[in-house]
Amino acid sequence: MILATSNLHKVGEMRELLPGVDLEPLPDGYESPVEDGDTFEANALIKARAAHAALGGRVIADDSGIESYDLDGAPGIYSARYAGAGASDDDNLDKLIREVDAAGGERRAAYVCVLALVEEDGTEHVFEANCEGLLLRERRGSGGFGYDPIFVPDDTDDDRTMSELTPAEKNAISHRGRAARLLLAHLG
Ligand code: IMP
Repeated sequence: MILATSNLHKVGEMRELLPGVDLEPLPDGYESPVEDGDTFEANALIKARAAHAALGGRVIADDSGIESYDLDGAPGIYSARYAGAGASDDDNLDKLIREVDAAGGERRAAYVCVLALVEEDGTEHVFEANCEGLLLRERRGSGGFGYDPIFVPDDTDDDRTMSELTPAEKNAISHRGRAARLLLAHLG
């Protein structure tokens, strides 16, 4: 099965989340489509359909991000470039801290992940999962990536951030881990 991403880190992570599934990255020279959908699902499907059309076979693609309830769901599908095109994780995180502070709300948020599967015959399936939590004002921990240093997930017994969890602890409760398990259940 092809994982429609050129991000090798993501291939490694998904291989861990999908044990027993033979995942291959996109081949060198593959031209990725423009992700111009306005939902996670639309963007995951754009990536999976394009790779299926170009390469055939069974393809999965994912799209993910974080939604702040105080900010009506922002940054959402713009999570990777919240502070502008080419922004670093740190820039994006600083912007989220500023915007959530300015909103003065309850600081609740959810990570969302959509995995899209296009079967060999073109049949499509979508698996969506989220992970709810609270956004801190200051970073804590060094693991994970992106918004993890300020995100305290609801589903642990303590108040550690995602960055303070082990990879196995994160996978057990994360949006991506949950979506991967929905896909695994489907694959049987
Ligand atoms: P993508 O799935 O690579 O498109 O991820 C979109 C963006 O969402 C990332 O660049 C991060 O900013 C954010 N994001 C998605 N999943 C996570 C996560 O597990 N931890 C932290 N940030 C995440």
